Amino acid sequence: MRAVVIGAGVLGCAISRELGELGAEVVVVDRNGEVGHGSTSASCGIVRRFYSQPGMVRLAQEASHLWADWGAWLGPIDGDLAVFERPGVLLLPEALDASVLAIVEDMRSCGVPVRLLDADAVEERFGFLDVGRCSPPVAVDHPEFLVGSGERIAGAVFEEDGGYVVSPGLATHNLRLAGERVGVRYRLNTEVTAVRHEGGAPFEVVVSRGRPLVADVVVNAAGPWSGVLNGLGGVSLPLETRPLRREVHALANPCSGAERVPVVGDLDGGVYLRPESGERQLIIGSTDPACDELEWVDDPDALDVGITQRYRERQVLRAMKRFPRIEMGPPSGLAHLYDVTTLDWYPIVDRTDLPGWYVAVGTSGSSFKTAPMIGVMLAGIIESCESGRDHDAHPFVLDLPRTGTQVDTSFLSRLRHANPTTGTVFG
Ligand SMILES: Cc1cc2nc3c(=O)[nH]c(=O)nc-3n(C[C@H](O)[C@H](O)[C@H](O)COP(=O)(O)OP(=O)(O)OC[C@H]3O[C@@H](n4cnc5c(N)ncnc54)[C@H](O)[C@@H]3O)c2cc1C
Repeated sequence: MRAVVIGAGVLGCAISRELGELGAEVVVVDRNGEVGHGSTSASCGIVRRFYSQPGMVRLAQEASHLWADWGAWLGPIDGDLAVFERPGVLLLPEALDASVLAIVEDMRSCGVPVRLLDADAVEERFGFLDVGRCSPPVAVDHPEFLVGSGERIAGAVFEEDGGYVVSPGLATHNLRLAGERVGVRYRLNTEVTAVRHEGGAPFEVVVSRGRPLVADVVVNAAGPWSGVLNGLGGVSLPLETRPLRREVHALANPCSGAERVPVVGDLDGGVYLRPESGERQLIIGSTDPACDELEWVDDPDALDVGITQRYRERQVLRAMKRFPRIEMGPPSGLAHLYDVTTLDWYPIVDRTDLPGWYVAVGTSGSSFKTAPMIGVMLAGIIESCESGRDHDAHPFVLDLPRTGTQVDTSFLSRLRHANPTTGTVFG
């Protein structure tokens, strides 16, 4: 099987390595000069298992085992390996209601070490955090922004062994080397400009440098450019994906050298944060509270990569309410794009109606952690579809050996009904 994977982000590199392991002849094409220089370069690399859908909890749990055993899973490669830092992930939901408790039970049932903490326990363990209730988050210029609710948070969900990968770019480079070891070839600085076919394989993938590449299988792993690439292939998906602009801001970690700050997913306050740069800094992103308008981008190439005062104030001031020792400091950070599946903010990992054309798209700001497993999943879907299986009628079932279970992959199908999710980056 000859496969062309379009996009050398963390997904394209993970998928191509798995296809190579299955014996396919794989070429990965990216218009950037190095792997992981698309939206992966902006990723916070957070690894948590708290998701509303059991399938995603399990994928994230299996992937977390891989991150923890990264070198062994990749096999022998040269150079440094990405590191999974595990200070824990502290989630502060708006309420500890039945749906949150059900997720926690589900996490436990697949082996995630997770604890429920009340406000006192959060205060005792993480004394630098304020446990005042902020929800629902409001705009920073709202008259009530600085008015305390007078109440305390309902409690927290603490994933003891959660954390973040340093760095997403290095992890992607590791995947490239592991793929090259099994024969995957990379064509960088090379843009896909057209795709010719007559309703299916063989495909002629026209590139900006060199002769067209001929393939039996094409994988669209083009991140926020996935819609453009589906357009080039003449593929339309039943689910919409759209690029969404995000900013992440960096500032000094006031606990540096003293106390260990966990990853904090503050759904109650509208921000998430984690340590960065050897814990000398914190980086802060948004949890998409309902009061903030989403900044959809029609043309991903028109992304404005500069950070703005508007986002900085919004994210840093919200973080300060939870973490009062934070100081604003000089502006620092980045902007990039999510590729959002607008239906339910879960990725689409599937075949398409064009035989031989596959997608791993719409990752909605949270598929770095699961990328190694999405690679295994899509390679399995491709292998079974190319062997004649009707994946739409009989979905591929993915083994998760480290978690000791399986998942029916149809929850990431293009044909699905909406997964009941938060409709935000938290899934
Ligand atoms: C700010 C931010 C924070 C995030 N934080 C987290 C997090 O904490 N945890 C988590 O799990 N996930 C996180 N994510 C999400 C995660 O990073 C993404 O889901 C993942 O990196 C997407 O990888 P990808 O390979 O699909 O896309 P990309 O990395 O964008 O790769 C796509 C590639 O396609 C290439 N391409 C596009 N068009 C063409 C063409 N015509 N020809 C050739 N090549 C082309 C691009 O150059 C690019 O390199 C975050 C994302 C962002 C933006």
